Amino acid sequence: MSVTSSDKELSLKRADEAYALMRKHGPSGDPRAFEVWYAHASGQNQALSKAVAEALSKDGGVLSDDALDHIHDNMLATSRFAMHAEKTSLGILSEIDTVMEMIDLALGSSNQYQQSLESMTTDLDGFMDKQRLREVVGRLVAATKETVATNRTLEARLQETKGEIQDLRETLESIRTESLTDPLTTLANRKHLDNMLLSAVDHAALSGEPLSVLMVDVDRFKSFNDTWGHLTGDQVLRLVAMSIKGAVRPTDTAARFGGEEFAVILPATQLKSAVMVAERIRQTVMSRELVKRSSGEALGRLTVSIGCASYTRGDTAALLVERADRCLIEAKRTGRNKSVSETDFNLDMSDVA
Ligand code: GH3
Ligand code: MG
Ligand code: MG
Repeated sequence: MSVTSSDKELSLKRADEAYALMRKHGPSGDPRAFEVWYAHASGQNQALSKAVAEALSKDGGVLSDDALDHIHDNMLATSRFAMHAEKTSLGILSEIDTVMEMIDLALGSSNQYQQSLESMTTDLDGFMDKQRLREVVGRLVAATKETVATNRTLEARLQETKGEIQDLRETLESIRTESLTDPLTTLANRKHLDNMLLSAVDHAALSGEPLSVLMVDVDRFKSFNDTWGHLTGDQVLRLVAMSIKGAVRPTDTAARFGGEEFAVILPATQLKSAVMVAERIRQTVMSRELVKRSSGEALGRLTVSIGCASYTRGDTAALLVERADRCLIEAKRTGRNKSVSETDFNLDMSDVA
């Protein structure tokens, strides 16, 4: 695809607009903010523009980090994924067309072979001298050779197509993984978490097995970001994510819930054991002395607060998360750097349907 000078002018104009909007509606200098404003300035993603307008009116004309996270993850990452998926499925369709053509060709050539055999059988019906017999056998050999050659070509092309289909399968597989993964931390993303939680709740309801959920939030992360910058903040979020992942079993699901908040699904786990897992996560995070990779500068330590809740009969996934979240709020309220479970205090859920 060639880019004309007027395309380029238009792109630069949009980039200027996006930059101006980003400065005006701050606070973030995050490259994702630029992507969101650029998409808004292009005017082609109406859902995104609507979400931006709503976020601005909610937060007094500012595009908050949380809103940015949400809009970027849900509207840009998803549309990029959709484009990628569409391209791959087009590739698969064209491969299927090729296979169909080859099958048609194979059918055509075997029909032709059959017809020539039939006509030779008719020829053989009548009187035969040596000369005619030689002629008929010659034609038979030629037709057979032709069919063998066609089959060889078909086989080679089928082999090639098989390889291409295999590549497409791998691409689709990696797109699927990408669509379920949070790009910053490589943990499960919110969509994956929601799906896993629904099936974990179904499983707990049917099997009677326990199920627990942790909500983990980094303490005073805003001030960490303000002191060390957003990019260092991002690196530290990755580290927190890895600490969480390292502290749970492979069958548990550790996910980025949004911003600096994480969730962990612990199947077959009672509340008591879930609190032990939460404590392990908390201790691991606070034991790390953070160092800026580029300069070796010491950044101090971070802590997390964790809310723990367990499935009870009749729970929905949303209710379970809501209870874990209330425990997290309680952990924040009572001093941070601690785990609070729903049996630790009088959890009032009267305002939740
Ligand atoms: P608290 O102990 O009450 O949780 O305080 P806090 O400062 O962690 O909480 P608050 O909700 O006020 O701020 C969360 C901050 O997390 C805001 C934003 O700067 C930061 N944050 C959210 N998402 C990201 C991200 O993807 N990268 C970086 N670097 N920072 C993020
Ligand atoms: Mg926080
Ligand atoms: Mg938070």
